[in-house]
Amino acid sequence: MEGLLLAWFTEHGRDLPWRRTRDPYAVLVSEVMLQQTQVERVIPRYLAWLERWPTVAALAAASPADVIREWQGLGYNRRGLNLHCAARRIAADGWPDDLTELPGVGPYTAAAVANFALGRDVLPVDTNVSRIQERTGHRFSAAAGQALMDLGATVCLARIPRCGVCPLASACPSRGRRYEPLRKQSRFEGSFRQRRAQTLRLVAESERPLSDLDRDAVQSLAQDGLVRVAPCGTFVTLP
Ligand code: SF4
Repeated sequence: MEGLLLAWFTEHGRDLPWRRTRDPYAVLVSEVMLQQTQVERVIPRYLAWLERWPTVAALAAASPADVIREWQGLGYNRRGLNLHCAARRIAADGWPDDLTELPGVGPYTAAAVANFALGRDVLPVDTNVSRIQERTGHRFSAAAGQALMDLGATVCLARIPRCGVCPLASACPSRGRRYEPLRKQSRFEGSFRQRRAQTLRLVAESERPLSDLDRDAVQSLAQDGLVRVAPCGTFVTLP
């Protein structure tokens, strides 16, 4: 089954910019951005990020405020700060053997960097990959990582898999099945997450009086280290 998948990937695999490098820093940047943001939105931001900070050392030397500004629009801003902290840690101590010791790097991101950049024998398993393994009943090797991502993103879709064009159809016991709709993602519009994003955008433009801002959002952002309230408590700035 894996042979069928790899042959399909050779022909249909997506040409993504982070697949043209084995630089662990570049792969880490892409994986952190991709954690909660779609591929199409990540591509231009990834390219801009690497142009601005092409190395771990360059990112480590940046200010948190610049990192937060550059992250604007990608969502879940804490990821940008974590990436910055990770760069500072790597610049000071080198890459840890266990990548999950880096801030913001969970088991999946660690496995992705280990596989795609460092060539380690570990399969990164996200929802796409586990779905395909469940449906096919096959355990794929680390060599199938990128191919599984693409199959999950373009063919073996969560709700209506496109079995008619699937390279694994001849060997897949789930071929032709339909699945229940996924639970809808909670709405962003009107949510506290949106209030936080709006507040951070305002502060990223320029420092603001606390009285002009959503206080609950400021408090939550300050707890995450994304903004700083001046000691006198009247102005809010980036850290
Ligand atoms: S045959 Fe259908 S269910 Fe099986 S892996 Fe392919 S797309 Fe997924």
